[in-house]
Amino acid sequence: MNDSSRPRDVAPSSTVCVHAGEPADASTGACEPPLHMAVAFAFDDAAQAAGAFTGENDHLIYGRWRNPTVHALELKIAALEAGASPDYECVATASGMAAITAAVLTCCSAGDHVVAPRSMYGESSRLLRERLPRFGIETTFVDQTSASAYAGAIRPNTKLLYVETPANPTLLLTDLRAVVALAREKGLRVLVDSTFATPYCQRPLAFGVDLVVHSMTKAIGGHGDAIGGAIVGGRAIMAGARELAVKSFGGVLSPFNAMLVARGIRTLSLRQKQACATASVLANALAESPHVARVHYPGHASHPQHVLAKSQMSAFGSLVAFEAKGGIAQGRRVLEKVKVVTHAVSLGDVRSLVTHPASTTHASMPADARHAGGIGDGLIRVSCGIEETNDVVDDVLRALD
Ligand code: PLP
Repeated sequence: MNDSSRPRDVAPSSTVCVHAGEPADASTGACEPPLHMAVAFAFDDAAQAAGAFTGENDHLIYGRWRNPTVHALELKIAALEAGASPDYECVATASGMAAITAAVLTCCSAGDHVVAPRSMYGESSRLLRERLPRFGIETTFVDQTSASAYAGAIRPNTKLLYVETPANPTLLLTDLRAVVALAREKGLRVLVDSTFATPYCQRPLAFGVDLVVHSMTKAIGGHGDAIGGAIVGGRAIMAGARELAVKSFGGVLSPFNAMLVARGIRTLSLRQKQACATASVLANALAESPHVARVHYPGHASHPQHVLAKSQMSAFGSLVAFEAKGGIAQGRRVLEKVKVVTHAVSLGDVRSLVTHPASTTHASMPADARHAGGIGDGLIRVSCGIEETNDVVDDVLRALD
């Protein structure tokens, strides 16, 4: 893939969010795409069936391999991440973890090695730390803010540089240009979990990343009512990813969830605009609060990688983390006192959510690994929704008082 075929580094417009992957239904004229729940698709004759299996024609065969509703969503996600470039495609999966597992195993086999961030989503960390070693794939965890830490961990059997930027829940960033340059020099692949950013805030393919994964459960779907995931990359690597993710592992997205996620995407840009604006106001307010030791938000000048954020993100995201003074006890008090913001895991929802990673999403991480990853006992993460900005900010400040 040469540079000119890469997507441009600009956020997808509302027009793309509404229209991409939604061809008009010529048979009925329906304005909204139909929901196809069918498992199998009838053939006109034996020759068509044989041709479908050899790939001579494009006739649908079986829902785990391709379903029109799921495929329309895949076209939409590919358009969000890669613009109009025909060189990229997407496979939708049953969850973000299904996407991550299939993406890693597309790049690695037994005997291979991965370099991954110390601070990352707890279950992704667990996959690399506990599950994949059983299948002969080892991981070294590094300080993701340093490209030289990635470089220093590379071994002769390294195949993949794993990136999560911004990271859950520390909001630490990884320099996409630097990691891609390193991977090109060493002949490695780069996978980016871009869930926190969404394509509205960041488009890693534009930097030459090989695979982007999303938990569509989060802001892409946006309404807290559908679990789903996606992998996006160049056509050659995606052919293998699709075979693994859905054909063999069976981690296929249900058509019903595909419909819900596609509906969510139509307002992605509008929702992200409001949620990112609230996150920015919240970060400023928390930075002024006497009850807060530290704020983590890539859009705030106090973030140690604010300059990097400006150079690789088009907006700074809807998530803010902070360390409340008073440690774990004060952290828990805040969770119990919020009224507008809901105390629940997950993120990217239309409703604002607050969580305490040390006791929930990252509880499976050993405490020393958690601390090394910057996830202190009192760290609180707020996912800003689309409520009025003042309602969210006042609620969090009141809970802190
Ligand atoms: N990646 C990140 C950054 C996440 O925060 C999550 C879940 O919180 C996942 C992946 C997993 O997504 P899912 O719950 O859809 O499997």
